[in-house]
Amino acid sequence: MKKRGLFIAGNWKMNLNLSESLQLAEAVVKGTSQFDNIKVLISPNFVSLVIVSHAAENSAVMVAAQDCHFEESGAYTGETAAEMIKSAGAGWVIVGHSERRTLFGEDDETVAKKLKNVLRNDLKPIVCIGESLEEREAGIQKDVIRKQLDHILETAADLAEIVIAYEPVWAIGTGKTATPEQAEEMHKYIRELIKDSAGQNISESILILYGGSVSLPNAKELLSSPNIDGALIGGASLKADSFIGIAEVAEELSKE
Ligand code: PEP
Repeated sequence: MKKRGLFIAGNWKMNLNLSESLQLAEAVVKGTSQFDNIKVLISPNFVSLVIVSHAAENSAVMVAAQDCHFEESGAYTGETAAEMIKSAGAGWVIVGHSERRTLFGEDDETVAKKLKNVLRNDLKPIVCIGESLEEREAGIQKDVIRKQLDHILETAADLAEIVIAYEPVWAIGTGKTATPEQAEEMHKYIRELIKDSAGQNISESILILYGGSVSLPNAKELLSSPNIDGALIGGASLKADSFIGIAEVAEELSKE
């Protein structure tokens, strides 16, 4: 029995065109409709956000944008505001994904500004943190996580509103998953930091997802760890059968 209920999120990244996104969204809505014990979220590209939100409208499947700008509106060519995401029908935003941090130069301050804007607009964030391979090899993964988390804890007045995703960068899209022991150790550490900063109640209720090459074969072991409350899934979320299969594993674990 999982204490906090499991949350299965699919990050489609820059994949799937409009009709492919609709097709996958409809398959996820249908394939997860019997699951009562878990939360399911999908995150399409911006072009597909409206149609995917519409497909998920009368279901329990939640929809997230993959990013948003930190200002409300204005001369920011190519950017999307939180209010636009809300008006598209999505309720969530992924903030600070490692690809945004490493490929698009988002630092902790930018991530904090985006988080603030998401919360100001009554959207729910999944905030990503994680160390690089060099940082893990240097043994400083906990220092890196503490620093990233500090910015989040300072920014979010109400931690009940946020979901954290621990995603070691070396495990994202590489097929190299953290072992359940490595992941559990970091999740436990994150929960302890939250307890020190925000107290026992919130540390026990906040959801901390694991991300990094989660797939159908490794999902059960990872999701069984006591401090892992779900998964943020990239590659394996692009195929209905693997994503729904992982959701089914989570549903079964939640019932046990
Ligand atoms: C991700 O995009 O957040 C992710 C974890 O990707 P993948 O599952 O492909 O490693």
